[in-house]
Amino acid sequence: MVPESAAERLAAIRAQLSASTQLLAVSKGHPAAAIRELAGLGQRSFGESRLQEASAKQEELADLSLDWHFIGRLQANKVRPVLQRFAWLHSVDSLALAERVARIAGEEGVCPKLLLQVKLRPDPAKGGFVPEELHQAWPQLRALPSVQLVGLMTMAPLGLAAEQRQSLFGDCAALARELGLDQLSMGMSGDWPEAAAAGSTWVRIGSALFGPKPLSPPAWDAI
Ligand SMILES: *Cc1c(COP(=O)(O)O)cnc(C)c1O
Repeated sequence: MVPESAAERLAAIRAQLSASTQLLAVSKGHPAAAIRELAGLGQRSFGESRLQEASAKQEELADLSLDWHFIGRLQANKVRPVLQRFAWLHSVDSLALAERVARIAGEEGVCPKLLLQVKLRPDPAKGGFVPEELHQAWPQLRALPSVQLVGLMTMAPLGLAAEQRQSLFGDCAALARELGLDQLSMGMSGDWPEAAAAGSTWVRIGSALFGPKPLSPPAWDAI
């Protein structure tokens, strides 16, 4: 049975997470009031994927001290405002983007935590470094000033079986270990138990926590 209230859903997810896995509550498409409710229950870290939508909610929630994670595709022309509003970026998917983030972070006087998005299985719908690209870019990535490279982020393609997803998440964990990165952003509503089993340190959960979306993306874009 799906728990009825956000409080019940939050408690049920927390009960299944080990101390090494943190919950990132993905609040995209949900109003500030829903975030405030979870914050009242002790949830501090929230993930958003659209700058405009996130900014409006951050202003409304400025009285709370929350950690904001940017998890959406990061466009080059949005890097500066994203760095002004988010301390964590989970979706850095190219060397050129990482270099731009580092330059602008220096100008803004911030030092964001970056997770590099990797693509471990062919998936035309998603971006990310394939492992060979990441290895090739690694010396330049490591040398970037004004950013903290803390981990890897990945998403499983649709249509994989649970054991295939767990093997993919295991590959991501192995790659992070090889590079000496200790944060792993893996797992969403449909696959977070496998990701947690493979060592995820951040499960990014939206619908299984907030329930169905009251606002569709087009409604937000019109604001
Ligand atoms: C929306 C989103 C999530 C959460 O998805 P759910 O299936 O609702 O849990 C996680 N990660 C990313 C990158 C997302 O865009």
